[in-house]
Amino acid sequence: MDVPIGELLSLKGRRALITGAASGIGRATALRFAEAGADLELVDIDEFGLKETKALAEEFGVEVKVHRVDLSRKIEIDTLWESLKGREPDILVNNAGVYWFKDFTEVDEGFYEKVMAINLDSVFWMCQHFVRARKDKGGVIINVSSIEAFLPFAKGLAHYDAAKLGVVALTRAIARDYGKKIRANVVVPGGIETEGVKKLKKEAIMKFDMEKIGISFNFNARLPMGRFGQPDEVARVMLFLASDLASYVNGAIIPVDGGFLST
Ligand code: NAD
Repeated sequence: MDVPIGELLSLKGRRALITGAASGIGRATALRFAEAGADLELVDIDEFGLKETKALAEEFGVEVKVHRVDLSRKIEIDTLWESLKGREPDILVNNAGVYWFKDFTEVDEGFYEKVMAINLDSVFWMCQHFVRARKDKGGVIINVSSIEAFLPFAKGLAHYDAAKLGVVALTRAIARDYGKKIRANVVVPGGIETEGVKKLKKEAIMKFDMEKIGISFNFNARLPMGRFGQPDEVARVMLFLASDLASYVNGAIIPVDGGFLST
């Protein structure tokens, strides 16, 4: 017990880049990291949401910069990293993602490419930039997958499931190849009541037949804890992984799903 717990948990003096920071899990993670003392680079396509997160995070007295980036466009990712030259982050959280439903037989090339570009390709390119910048200095990567990658339960998400399992393989490859300096882990959320999920619930009720898209009432019945999770309950795990509390955690796959995957 040579290092006090407060010091192990602190992110003071570190800079974290978080994607999808305008809402949901990304925003909650930004706020916990700010509370732990990290300076932030927040990335999202939603400029308004980003500004809101920035204002909330600044209340912790840390430096917060925002970047409006469409992560489906590699050129925008390259430009982002160009702008970060000289102050590359120590921690990278690839959290942005879209769970757009479409029946497998109706997925066309444009839709497929967009979903893959956001949910998998952007994670690949962001990690590549990060590893190039940090492979000697060290750092932490946290990539966000989904329970859907391991237990596809919702109809109309084959494209999403494929991308999210790809995120797992990519993360473990980085953990293996760069483990001497970089810790890379995967967080696997499920049933988290974010803005995105709330919208989905509303749309499912208003626009779709719940049974048809597969999010039947069984989902709730299958939640061992009998409730949805809150974004901050994922953010707390993100903070653990980003901090020195997790100094020997590398290549791990960590569900934050209230036990859903165990059912
Ligand atoms: P959310 O919709 O609340 O937030 C996602 C963020 O990503 C949004 O701010 C959005 O603007 C941003 N984004 C989308 N497309 C983008 C693009 N092209 N460029 C830049 N930013 C873009 O979602 P959430 O529920 O907080 O989900 C966060 C992550 O967790 C996602 O990767 C999602 O797949 C994953 N996940 C969530 C749940 C859940 O229950 N909420 C379950 C499994 C996995």
